[in-house]
Amino acid sequence: MMTADQKSRTHLSTDIIVVGGGIAGLMLALILGRMGIRVTLVEKNRELIAHQRGEILQPNGLKILEQLGLLEEIRPHSYEVNVFHFYQMRGDFLCDIRYDLLPPPYSYALVASPYHLQALLLQKAMETGFVNILWETEFQELIWSGKKVCGVIAKQREERITLQGKMVAGGDGGRSAVRSALGIGAAIYQYRDGYFTARLERPAGFNRDARYYVGNRRILALFPVSKSDLYLLYLIPRNRQEAWRKRGLEAWKKELLSIDPVIEEPLKKIGLENIHYMPVFRIRVDAWVADGAALIGDAAHSFNPHVAQGRNQAMEDAVALAKVIELCFKNGDFSKTALMPYQETRKKYALIYEKLGDELTLFWNSGLKPLVWIRNRVFRQLHKKPKLMYKMLTTVSGVKIDLFTLLDRFRALGVWPWRT
Ligand SMILES: Cc1cc2nc3c(=O)[nH]c(=O)nc-3n(C[C@H](O)[C@H](O)[C@H](O)COP(=O)(O)OP(=O)(O)OC[C@H]3O[C@@H](n4cnc5c(N)ncnc54)[C@H](O)[C@@H]3O)c2cc1C
Repeated sequence: MMTADQKSRTHLSTDIIVVGGGIAGLMLALILGRMGIRVTLVEKNRELIAHQRGEILQPNGLKILEQLGLLEEIRPHSYEVNVFHFYQMRGDFLCDIRYDLLPPPYSYALVASPYHLQALLLQKAMETGFVNILWETEFQELIWSGKKVCGVIAKQREERITLQGKMVAGGDGGRSAVRSALGIGAAIYQYRDGYFTARLERPAGFNRDARYYVGNRRILALFPVSKSDLYLLYLIPRNRQEAWRKRGLEAWKKELLSIDPVIEEPLKKIGLENIHYMPVFRIRVDAWVADGAALIGDAAHSFNPHVAQGRNQAMEDAVALAKVIELCFKNGDFSKTALMPYQETRKKYALIYEKLGDELTLFWNSGLKPLVWIRNRVFRQLHKKPKLMYKMLTTVSGVKIDLFTLLDRFRALGVWPWRT
């Protein structure tokens, strides 16, 4: 453990220290900045990373962006999807997940570039005049006053910086160093499948819709991400990456074309440098708050991307934590007890999405015939049973948590005689 004046050359003080300039950290910095609270955000990278991917902003995330006056600004860097079509690998239709059935105004999802969203949050946070960002600054240690966190020590190139504040928010992602420094336990599980992602030129044939192909431990998703770009996601078992490389890029392209020939022309233009491997983790964290500290975003929870909620939950975390921080300022109390309402409001949702993510992964990623059979049957039943589909959609889209009952599961399997 280090005290504030050991080894450090630069000493800074602020109100709130945020570690990590991902969506969680930037969103929190922006909201606090708009409240007139001084924030210093430390980010280990030199600048925002332009990840070549698209991610789904669900209605719950859209609502937050709208409330912050940012929704219209992100539209040029995103694509509105009303329907996700699900097919089997060989092309048979399974089901339409229709976002346009949701109550307006958020009866769609936006597939957006994470980079552009973060760039927008960064710009707006800076405009508040209360947010200071320290780039190339890596969190190293917490500073303690007794049992309460009161700052961080970070490394900016060769210089050590001491930052003191009323509390530290750890938004430093799934492998959170802040979480470790707090001594908070986390159960980390790497799913057996990860994904190749790539951004392609968008071919004709998409109109406010996206395509999802599921097979025997095979998944291909094609999501338009802007007027010009298409985002591709392809399941790769994590132990088969090497075999994939040996088979070569051309063999892979051929495999993709056998699933959907619409990407023939765009695929010709991509090389290995355009393809990125994304491992996928489930992270369950024991506690989200401590005396003088809180965790947000993937530092607090991570679940399978099939629920497409990680980014949206990170935004919800930032909104909820900012409200609690406002109260902490009023009461002059940043203790664990004072921060606990944040954990109480948010953790239960993360656990629901974690469970749902696991359930979807079990069926969607399976190569076992009985599970594949159940999955395909459930998709077809959902297509025929609008009430059931709606129930599932409201949960995934973050509109309302409405989990399947046992009866719903029977209905989804088609062993319940009535249409609902
Ligand atoms: C394949 C895939 C697809 C996904 N699709 C979706 C989707 O469609 N919709 C959705 O909502 N979510 C999706 N997600 C989840 C989503 O990407 C994450 O939940 C989200 O990016 C988490 O944001 P974050 O800010 O918490 O963490 P991160 O994005 O990991 O940001 C953490 C930041 O902290 C910085 N940092 C780390 N350590 C330090 C340190 N020691 N000092 C200083 N800075 C540090 C990092 O550089 C980084 O900038 C997907 C995830 C995957 C893997």
